[in-house]
Amino acid sequence: MLNLVLFGPPGAGKGTQSTRLIEKYHLIHLSTGDLLRSEIANGTELGMEAKKLMDQGILVPDNVVIGMIRSRLESNKDAKGFIFDGFPRTKAQAVALDELLSEEGTDIHFMLALNVDDDELTKRILNRGKDSGRSDDSDPSIIRKRVEEYNNKTAPLISHYSEQGKYRSIPGLGSIDEIFDRLCKEIEA
Ligand code: AMP
Repeated sequence: MLNLVLFGPPGAGKGTQSTRLIEKYHLIHLSTGDLLRSEIANGTELGMEAKKLMDQGILVPDNVVIGMIRSRLESNKDAKGFIFDGFPRTKAQAVALDELLSEEGTDIHFMLALNVDDDELTKRILNRGKDSGRSDDSDPSIIRKRVEEYNNKTAPLISHYSEQGKYRSIPGLGSIDEIFDRLCKEIEA
């Protein structure tokens, strides 16, 4: 199996690169943001509760996203591997993911972290908001809140994976192809 955490702040390019990586390595893409948006689109109770927080740029509770990941891992037992995109985002989520994978006799191979400076991130998110229609991509104060959540709760996960020797930093500036090549080199190194 090949299990990757694709890591980085909002707007770093995780979704774009995930699409390419799943094709090349035949992996299953697990994006908690996408899963939550599909709950919202389906009008579920979970979706409606999550939306209140997502609209403010605040993380949803750990148990909600851990539960979603657990059920996807259980229903894809024959997978060649997974790309975790936008998950884990807190220490509790990272610990839960380690446990869930270890129950399946596997683990995370790399945390590939896309590094992009703050000004570029805001530019990319506002641009994406024009097409995606995502309300959390269109309002600068909500974007700032998401970056703050990332810096406070998510960035500390770098040390969780560094301690396990799994952290790889990838420059996230350049063309989509260039960044994809860097990711593949790291995976195949
Ligand atoms: P994303 O599409 O990954 O940028 O996620 C959009 C929003 O969904 C985030 O701002 C959070 O409110 C919520 N979300 C997505 N993934 C997680 C997660 N792993 N933990 C908590 N909240 C999340």
